[in-house]
Amino acid sequence: MKKLLLIILLLGSSPAWAATKLYLFDCGHINFPDVSSFGLSNEETSVRDLFVPCYLIEHDGKRLLWEAGLPISMAGKPLHESQPGMWVEYKKSILDQLADMHITPGDIDFTAYSHFHFDHVGAANAFTQSTLLIQQTEYDAAFLNAKDNPIFDPALYDKLHNSSIQILRGDHDVFGDGAVKIVSAPGHTPGHQVLLLNLENTGALMLSGDLYHFEASRRLKRTPVFNTDAAETISSMAKIEALLSETGATLWIEHNKTLADTLRKAPAYYD
Ligand SMILES: [Zn+2]
Repeated sequence: MKKLLLIILLLGSSPAWAATKLYLFDCGHINFPDVSSFGLSNEETSVRDLFVPCYLIEHDGKRLLWEAGLPISMAGKPLHESQPGMWVEYKKSILDQLADMHITPGDIDFTAYSHFHFDHVGAANAFTQSTLLIQQTEYDAAFLNAKDNPIFDPALYDKLHNSSIQILRGDHDVFGDGAVKIVSAPGHTPGHQVLLLNLENTGALMLSGDLYHFEASRRLKRTPVFNTDAAETISSMAKIEALLSETGATLWIEHNKTLADTLRKAPAYYD
């Protein structure tokens, strides 16, 4: 009996993030023959392919979906030019990939997207039963003023308007125990945010959103021409770099396809 009590006490004292699992899904890729709109010359990087990720985080019986990939209407089609100068390919939709793991949209407690561009909210409309975690400024841009922000495509997320929405005003501890934090990093869009995870075996890990698209963007501190505020982006880069130093976190640039090709994909996971 004493032994059992000791085991229970030991389990109770394990770190709060011990149960956190991070799954990475291939939610397509985008090819840009010309990358100059990202604030880089075509000579400054040889990268032309951007990976498009989706992530599922499981923590103490709760689930957070971070990023919802390319539009699900693109899934299952071969590489094609979706608009001039942009080629896309999306093999299997995130909904089908979750179904392979016996997970339905109704099983997702929270959704949060780094921002509301088409390659991050492509399946958002499927998650009307989840609570959306969104910065006030992103909510205003995506839901109230989308006409002034032509990069936003409300058809991808308009069903969320009447779903459960938790408005954020800055950084937010998702599960209340420090395991998974949304960190405000505006500039790419008005309410852009990144995700900081504390994983027991992997360590601290930061998911970049579109703070940087390329390693060269980070090295050279370049901002895409389509960012809503370049100066604000540079401030966010400074904030996040300081946080990376402070926490010792590894940064995954989400669109880095070379990196993504080396990472485990669901149903394998990081913990
Ligand atoms: Zn993106």
